[in-house]
This record gives sequence, C-alpha cells and structure tokens, in this order.
Amino acid sequence: MSRYFSDKYADLEAYVPGEQPKDQHYIKLNTNENAFPPHPAVAKAVAEESGKLHLYSDPECRELREALAARLEVEPEELLMTNGSDEILNFAFMAFCDEYTPAVFPDITYGFYPVFAAVNRVPYREIPLEEDLTIDPEKYTQTAGTIFIANPNAPTGIALTRGQIEGILQSNPYNVVVVDEAYVDFGAESCIPLIREYENLLVTQTFSKSRSLAGGRLGFGAGNPELIRDLNTVKYSTNPYNVNRLTNAAALACLTNDEYYTENCRTIADTREWTAREMKRLGFELTPSSANFLFAVHPRIDGETFYREMKERGILIRHFSGARIREYNRISVGTREQMETFVRTAAAILES
Ligand code: PMP
Repeated sequence: MSRYFSDKYADLEAYVPGEQPKDQHYIKLNTNENAFPPHPAVAKAVAEESGKLHLYSDPECRELREALAARLEVEPEELLMTNGSDEILNFAFMAFCDEYTPAVFPDITYGFYPVFAAVNRVPYREIPLEEDLTIDPEKYTQTAGTIFIANPNAPTGIALTRGQIEGILQSNPYNVVVVDEAYVDFGAESCIPLIREYENLLVTQTFSKSRSLAGGRLGFGAGNPELIRDLNTVKYSTNPYNVNRLTNAAALACLTNDEYYTENCRTIADTREWTAREMKRLGFELTPSSANFLFAVHPRIDGETFYREMKERGILIRHFSGARIREYNRISVGTREQMETFVRTAAAILES
C-alpha cells in the first residue's frame, strides 16, 4: 500500500479471481468459463466493428437491448447492459444498499458480495446455509435489507425454484431482491418472467457463461423500469460507455445464433451429469448442481491436497479456504474429453 492510499480503503480485502497461470498449459476447470468457443459469427462481427473503434460505443446499447428484450420477452426499458454482471451487481450495491439498508446474502455464496459491500461501505448480514449447503428460503422472510441470492448458488450449484424465490419476493415488499442468475441456463428456472409482477425484483445475468463470452465482459440487469432508471443513474455517474463496441457487436452476433448456445448448454449439462456419476463411483460426495460446475468432497483426501495434486498433473480446479467448505473443490465442467481426463486423474490421485 502506498502512503497515498486512502484510509477509507485501508482494510479492504479485494476479490481474488481464479488463477490464470501462464507457466504451462493446463486443463482449465477453475473459473467456470464455457467449454466451447463463441459461434464463428462473433469473430466476424468483431472484425467488422473494429474499423469503428475511433468512435465511442452507444451508451444506451439500444440495438443490443432491443435484440435481447425480444429474446427474453421483456421491454428494452426493463434492461440495463453492463461490463460483466459484476458491474450490475456493484451498481445494485451502490443503488439499493446503505447504512440503514444492509446487504443480506448466504454465508457461502459468490465471494464478490462481501467485497462489493466493503468497497461501497455498506454493512452486510450473512445467513448460514443449511447443513446440506442448501438455502432455506424461510430464513429470508422480512429481512430488512437488500437480498442477494445467486441462483443457482455458487459454489454449490444448488438452485431454488422460481416458486421459492417468489416467496422471498412476497415477504420482502419493502426491499429489493437481487437474483444473480449467472449460471441459470445450465438447468435452473429464470425469474425474468416475474419482473412485471414484483417491482422489488432485479435479475442479473451474464454473457460470460452460457453465451461463451467471458473475455468480452457483458452482463445485464432485468427489472421494472424504475429500478433500471436508478441503476442508470449510478451507471451514468461512473462509466457511461461501459459496454465497448467490440463486445456490443459480439453480443449481437451471439443473439442471432441462439441454437448453437442452447445446444452447448445441453451438452455441458449432460457432461456434468456424466462426470458426477463417475466421481460418485470414485467415492466423492457432490452437491446437486444445476450449474456448469460441480462441488465435491472426498472422505479420503483433504480439499487442498486434491487441488494441489490436480495442479501438479496439469488440471486447474478451484479450492476455497472458507471454514465450512475447505474440504471441497469446485470443478468447472469442460468438454467430455477434458472431463474424462479429469476423472482418470482423480482416480490416479486417489490410488496413490
Ligand atoms: N455471479 C456469480 C455467481 C459468478 O460466479 C460470477 C462469475 N465469477 C459472476 C456473477 C460475474 O460474472 P461476470 O462478471 O463475468 O458476468
């Protein structure tokens, strides 16, 4: 820390992204990227758009919002595009939390939530997951705070039903409920159809996972136009051109090839189920995942050792050091071939 760093951030513990080592070629199963590259139309659209990079991007993302709104069966005014869904989540912390309205989220969830709370200097309350790592929606009734729920949750992959989330929305009419649907397309129910009915609902999604665009950085929020207006106030007070031209072009091309992405999500969900079966055969215990990752523990090997042994053999997975989950590892679902290598390697580690 330099002597110039503001005191207000002296205690800030920044988010630590999954490692991206360059020392050798790894099978990367540690940051929940999509196993498949973008549709070829994306590269073509980006190449064409690059000739216009001397001009600013459209701060309203009008064309993109119209195309996305048509897909989601909402209105463009119900959408706000952001630089990854991390940005819309940060905007939600800025817009809907303060000293009197704490953020409320599970004790085991996306690790960025406490960091967003800290950087925006808002208090937060964590509600413990149940023993089996599920969320009990009953514990979110009348919370007196802004609720953040990742659905499916990360890193467990466990999803609530739309009905369960609706219960939370109904019992919190005075609070915003943010449903972070980063992984929803791999097997959970989206709450976007509920945004008309519940003015306190903000759904966030990303192009990083099911739409194979993690490096493009595009996310969005869906909610009633008043919430979206608040979030736009925050956006125009921080970074009006938050979605760059190349990403905008990439996303438009992505939306014209829905079938390609839907099929990839289906393949990933099938590969997830195959991998889970093979892992159970090796003695792993897994949470029931609806996402593009698995969360697993083995009674005979501790979590960190398994992570290290995997890395030594060229496979990166994600280990967390939090008290309740340090024996677990999160394994992104790659291609079938990558997962066959993963399972073979896991078997070899357990044998040794
Ligand atoms: N929510 C959850 C639960 C995530 O795991 C992630 C990815 N790390 C994000 C949001 C943000 O992803 P992105 O900014 O790439 O959209």
